[in-house]
Amino acid sequence: GYQKVLEENRKLYNQVQDLKGSIRVYCRVRPFLPGQPSRFSTVANADNGVLTLITPSKNGKEGRKSFNYNQVFGPSATQEKVFSDMQPLIRSVLDGYNVCIFAYGQTGAGKTYTMSGPNNPTDETLGVNYRALSDLFSISEQRKDIIHYDISVQMLEIYNEQVRDLLVTDEIRNNSQNGLNVPDANLVPVASTSDVMHLMDLGFKNRAVSSTTMNDRSSRSHSCLTVHVKGKNLTSGTVLRGCMHLVDLAGSERVDKSEVVGDRLKEAQHINKSLSALGDVIASLAQKNAHVPYRNSKLTQLLQDALGGQAKTLMFVHISPESDALGETISTLKFAERVSTVELGAARANKDSTDVKELKEQIASLKAALANKE
Ligand code: ADP
Ligand code: MG
Repeated sequence: GYQKVLEENRKLYNQVQDLKGSIRVYCRVRPFLPGQPSRFSTVANADNGVLTLITPSKNGKEGRKSFNYNQVFGPSATQEKVFSDMQPLIRSVLDGYNVCIFAYGQTGAGKTYTMSGPNNPTDETLGVNYRALSDLFSISEQRKDIIHYDISVQMLEIYNEQVRDLLVTDEIRNNSQNGLNVPDANLVPVASTSDVMHLMDLGFKNRAVSSTTMNDRSSRSHSCLTVHVKGKNLTSGTVLRGCMHLVDLAGSERVDKSEVVGDRLKEAQHINKSLSALGDVIASLAQKNAHVPYRNSKLTQLLQDALGGQAKTLMFVHISPESDALGETISTLKFAERVSTVELGAARANKDSTDVKELKEQIASLKAALANKE
């Protein structure tokens, strides 16, 4: 019935958004953790693109507040499900698109779980980074008679507005001259998932070197896995390039300035600055502003080529279900709302159905164009 039509429209809408390359926002709710006393969850509902929070109200009764996103994952969503909803976006890098995926949220909300998986992941709990590369390998294998793909990766960390290459080791020589926006960062060719595992391990170890406790450091720096793809069409000889940034952002929690001093305060200020710069850039892209303020942080400078224009951006916000996290949860959802182009409620469904004919035609002609190319 209606729900099905709505869902199909939404799918189609999303598909076209994919093709056009706009800003999409996903939201994931972390489950309560084992060993945690089961407590009251602030999330009443998380499905069909809608997240509903239970909020305390003044007269003691609870209120509800709903947010719409392109996709919402509840606490029981598997890594596989999360990845499969990101797959079309990720695969588009093989068609020469630039893609940026950001994991945003307060420390402990599940950013690293989504992107990398837990410590010592199993096949089921492997994160997006690994799944993405593994998927790119298998698609490039499928296409090998038509296109030859070279895939290589970089791993960077941004800490206190300083960029650090996580793939510089004795083992791998720095091969600088890659003409990228991070000229000094090592670009390492990869051909298999075991190559990728190995590098991720290396990057992880490198990252831990200068930190007192790993978790501390990782929650106060941004880490970025960049995948560069070069595809050469074997018949026409045309070369296409795409690049994808998979970014595990620093924790977004606000730090009480009266409670921290020295290094901790400096870190907090840098994080604040770069996350708000990122929010400003994405919001101004979403609003199609003429001026996009890329230059306000290292992070946005670094990713400039892959944000805006034809590039595709996914802001993936993470929230914790605990009631003592509610303040941060709301501020995370507000951030997501600000960078989102999604329209809310019934108006959106109407808008979708009037647009669908046009969208269908667009999709058909793009498909035809694609078929022609191959
Ligand atoms: P962040 O990177 O945002 O600080 P983490 O990804 O480290 O948060 O998650 C905090 C803890 O919660 C970790 O122990 C992680 O394994 C666990 N966790 C996070 N998300 C999930 C999930 N969806 N399912 C199961 N455990 C999760
Ligand atoms: Mg983390």
